[in-house]
Amino acid sequence: MRSCDLPEEEIIKCFHCGNETPMPKVGEYSWGSRDEEFSDFDFFYKYELFACPVCHKVTLREIYSDETMIGYFDRYQVRCDETNRILFPLNTIDSASVPGAIKKSYDAALKIKCIDEYACLMSIRRTLELILKDNGATKWGLSDKIKEAAKKELLPDTLMEALEWIKQLGDTAAHDKKLEVDQYDVENMIEFVGFIIKYLYIMPDKMKEYKKHFKRKLDAMPKE
Ligand SMILES: [Zn+2]
Repeated sequence: MRSCDLPEEEIIKCFHCGNETPMPKVGEYSWGSRDEEFSDFDFFYKYELFACPVCHKVTLREIYSDETMIGYFDRYQVRCDETNRILFPLNTIDSASVPGAIKKSYDAALKIKCIDEYACLMSIRRTLELILKDNGATKWGLSDKIKEAAKKELLPDTLMEALEWIKQLGDTAAHDKKLEVDQYDVENMIEFVGFIIKYLYIMPDKMKEYKKHFKRKLDAMPKE
């Protein structure tokens, strides 16, 4: 990866410190079908590394395009679209298995985790309420929703314990209780809700997909 001769700057939001500021590009790497000896499909990847002048942490962005993303306005003009996403720091759950409202709430927590600890813990608490509601909880308060989840063994015991921590830290953030909150709490609660989302939504879909694949494999196996 190059780290010199890159004078470009771009206004990018830093998900570490929350500043939206011109960031210098400090590294770049690209590859695509043009680099392969034989390729019957045109594609292109570009990775760019930006350094935040405020917090000095880095942001890694991926740009991707391929031949299916080319559109024709008329006989002569060609438009080439591309996808553009921040790979690091993590600021979204990249999965279609997660319901929209839950993804939106969790993404909001991810985006502010280094900016406002209290707002982030409230977003995590809200994400948990949405998850429990989506999984059949009917009671009004979070405490009662957690009891309902425990009763029907929605999650393994190790994850159930995390629900209490999320509730207590979320209540502290919302009601200014005396419990002290720090970045370590925030990072862990983000991770634990991430585990719950993976367990309830992403894992079952992944397994269902693989099950189909494995069945096709078995069906294709020569009969003895
Ligand atoms: Zn920053």
